[in-house]
Amino acid sequence: MKIKEFFETKPCVMSFEVFPPVRDGSIDRLVPVIDRLSDLNPDFISVTYGAGGTSRDMTVEIASFLKKKGTVEAMAHLTCVGASREQIDTVLQELKANGVINILALRGDPPEGQGRFEKPKNGFGYASELVEYTGTYKFFCIGVAGYPEGHLEAPSFEKDIENLKKKVDAGSDFIITQLFFNNEYFYRFRDAATKAGINVPVVPGIFPIISYGQIKKFTELCGATLPPDLREKLERARDDKQAVERIGIDHALKQSEDLLKQGVPGFHFYSMNRSHHVEEILRNLSLPGRS
Ligand code: FAD
Repeated sequence: MKIKEFFETKPCVMSFEVFPPVRDGSIDRLVPVIDRLSDLNPDFISVTYGAGGTSRDMTVEIASFLKKKGTVEAMAHLTCVGASREQIDTVLQELKANGVINILALRGDPPEGQGRFEKPKNGFGYASELVEYTGTYKFFCIGVAGYPEGHLEAPSFEKDIENLKKKVDAGSDFIITQLFFNNEYFYRFRDAATKAGINVPVVPGIFPIISYGQIKKFTELCGATLPPDLREKLERARDDKQAVERIGIDHALKQSEDLLKQGVPGFHFYSMNRSHHVEEILRNLSLPGRS
């Protein structure tokens, strides 16, 4: 089913994100995670595309596996990094052949060691171009990324919203946001999007923190900020893995409860290939339309 149809028919669309286990190059380790996440009854599971296009084949393989299994709808992420139009075409053809109809179209980050994103020869320079191209298939439902705190490279928040509008005008059906830890950023972003004439669903991306080192690295990479009180709590607990996880789950739950009251169309949980955090959050969150 196309994800946009979930938004048209359900009061709260719930999804999880997983990443290909690139290190051992096999999806076997991911299968039990997918099974546990599927038990939580999400509407879809999305599969990331490795930085620099490294996990291209596995992304297609995992999304196709989900599709074949038939328990939960699949969405494949796709980036413009290092790929010509022909290479993008090959991936789109493979996804289509395997019945994967939902795509998150992204520009992607530059490969490690390459400071700036460079438009590949005969490729795409912005996600909006990938959205437009993918749209020519007249087959896929297309989502894009949004940044509640603005994208790191954008000259301003306002300019980033203008660029987001270009992605929607190019044909995207919904927006999933980057992780954020202060809901005020999300509300400001949503308001600015509405004001700019963006009328597709804007779904908050929720990241339950699982380790101090990891979240420090992630926030530095993507530019999301930790509120001072959350940062202090995490710093105090930094060497106690269980305590950090507890703080992460409690914060994600508090964020989700508040977002729910403010009428979000759904939640996208960054599962980090684990299930127990989201499981605990969902146990304590009454999502409309779900028992
Ligand atoms: P774009 O929308 O192209 O924006 C990139 C920058 O260019 C922004 O600063 C924007 O303001 C600017 N811009 C856009 N259009 C124009 C224009 N026409 N003129 C001038 N400036 C413009 N990365 C991966 O590698 N793999 C993944 O699987 C992955 N999944 C993600 C999932 C989500 C939900 C999110 C939020 C991010 C994900 N990312 C992933 C990270 C993403 O690739 C990076 O954040 C990347 O730096 C930007 O991608 P984008 O699609 O937002 O780019």
